[in-house]
Formats: sequence, C-alpha cells, structure tokens
Amino acid sequence: MALALQTFSTVRDANTALKAAGTRYLGGGTLVVRAANEGDVSVSGLVRSTEPSLSAISVAGGTVRIGASVTMAAIARHPDLTALARAARAVGGPAIRNMATVGGNLFAPTPYGDFTVALLALDASVSTDDGHMTVEKFLAARDGNRAIVTSVSFALPQEGSFRFLKVSRVKPKGVSVLSIAATLEQAADGTVSSARIALGCMADRPMRAMAAEKALIGRALTKDGISAALAVANDGTSPATDPIASAWYRSEVLPVHLGRLLLGQIVDTRG
Ligand SMILES: Cc1cc2nc3c(=O)[nH]c(=O)nc-3n(C[C@H](O)[C@H](O)[C@H](O)COP(=O)(O)OP(=O)(O)OC[C@H]3O[C@@H](n4cnc5c(N)ncnc54)[C@H](O)[C@@H]3O)c2cc1C
Repeated sequence: MALALQTFSTVRDANTALKAAGTRYLGGGTLVVRAANEGDVSVSGLVRSTEPSLSAISVAGGTVRIGASVTMAAIARHPDLTALARAARAVGGPAIRNMATVGGNLFAPTPYGDFTVALLALDASVSTDDGHMTVEKFLAARDGNRAIVTSVSFALPQEGSFRFLKVSRVKPKGVSVLSIAATLEQAADGTVSSARIALGCMADRPMRAMAAEKALIGRALTKDGISAALAVANDGTSPATDPIASAWYRSEVLPVHLGRLLLGQIVDTRG
C-alpha cells in the first residue's frame, strides 16, 4: 500500500493533519517507515513539519533545548553537548544516527530508547504546542499521545555529574541488553547528595531506579558505599525477554553494570 506523505511548514498545521485516522508523524522514519515496509497497515499516511525550531539546538544560561527533529548525529558532534555524546552515539550505527531523531527516540519501545534513558536521568521536560511536561510524565502517557513533540529541554549537567552506559552484545552498534544513565551530585566530603538514575530495557519503556537513588544518598561512591543501592537496583523493574537477552539475564547483570557506572569503571567501546 502506498503511503501518502504530507509536509507542513508549521507544527500547528501538521498537528491538524495528524487528526486524520491512520496518520503518523514522521521523524527520521527509522521505526515508522520500517514498520510500514514490514506491513503495518495501521499507517496509511505520514505527516511531517519543516518548522525550523524543530531542528535547532540552543545552549544558553545553562539550559539546553533540543528540537525534536534533531538527529543523534547532530547531538554527538555538538561542541556544547559533549556530556551527551556517549548517549547519542549509543543509538544504532552511523546511518541510523543520521536519521534517528530525539522526538522519535521518546516513542521508541524497548529495547530502543537509549537516548531517552539519558533524558530521564537529566529530568528533561518535553514540549508540545500545548505546553510542557516532565519526561517521566510524558513516558507514562505516551501511548495515547497524538501531539507532535517540538523539543526537549534540561539543565546542562555539571562537569562529571552525568554518566551513561549502554550494554550490548554486538559492539559497537548492537541493540541494548540494557542502558543506564545517572546524574549524581556529591557533597564536599564526596558523599552523594542527589541521585537520579534511569534504566533502559528494564521495563517496556525507560524507568527510574528510585530505590537505588534513595539508597545512594549520603553514601560514598565506593564499593561499600554503593552496595545498598546495587541490592535494590532491580526494585520495580519488569525487564523484557527478547532475542538479545532474557528478563532473567537483564536482572542478573543490572547490578554489575550499575556498579561499574557508579564506580566510574566505564570503557567506551562504541564508535
Ligand atoms: C537497525 C536499527 C538499529 C537501531 N538501534 C537503536 C539503538 O541502538 N538505540 C535506540 O535507542 N534506538 C535504536 N533504533 C530505533 C530508532 O532508530 C531510534 O529509537 C530513533 O531515535 C527513532 O527516531 P526516528 O526519528 O527514526 O523515529 P520515527 O521512526 O520517525 O518515529 C517513531 C515513532 O515516534 C513518532 N514520532 C517521531 N517523532 C515525533 C515527534 N516529534 N512528535 C510526535 N511523535 C513523533 C512517530 O510517529 C512514530 O510513531 C534502531 C533502529 C534500527 C532500524
């Protein structure tokens, strides 16, 4: 079946066109076009917008705004977003990263959504023409979402406070066994004063490891200090079983990789 593609210069007009049955928004198309090619007959038409703000990145006054059509490749090479480059490079190989957008990643089901894991740890907000909401609220409600996401925004993390790790079996561009992002602040004595930890592939969408976050407060980032957090790392998770890994395997290796992330023992094996 042929797919109709409608292009609009404003998000507003594209949002109106999306009200028609069978229409889907087109980001980079790496998932939605693939699904249509594979026979997903629920998609009969694609809608996109070329509004320039969708493709803009701004970093001002410590706040980052990334338009929803910005690709992973653009983030990975942006000089002010080096803290996020690892998370952007975690998405697919070079060809995918040239097309995959931030907006599309927010909707990507497990085992995808690696960049969204980073956004969740950064407490990003998600914007549409109707307003803003936290990425956490957005993820909880995304299945019913029809509105075009226009951008994501977050405070640029302090130097060294943001960490990201993707675990895959095929290096450098395999699909995730799991991914972990953490924003950690430490007091003068080195103990953790605030922690926000997000997990990918440990549920049907990125989730927070709230029990582990709580268990880290006031603790040092040492083997002993993090042990309570690792013991509760799996609390609230319901990992996927897929061709990459079983739910059991994901649960077994989560504390190991979270431990490495917290102790700073990450080796970057991705291109
Ligand atoms: C070979 C391959 C490897 C991949 N590897 C990874 C990986 O390692 N990690 C990973 O996270 N993902 C991976 N993906 C999945 C995917 O490429 C990424 O998640 C990507 O970011 C999706 O973005 P997109 O712009 O291509 O989405 P699209 O395919 O354009 O859209 C996906 C969904 O999101 C909706 N959507 C897109 N943009 C918006 C918007 N602005 N507002 C509202 N709705 C929107 C679409 O309507 C659609 O329902 C891979 C995909 C392939 C094909």
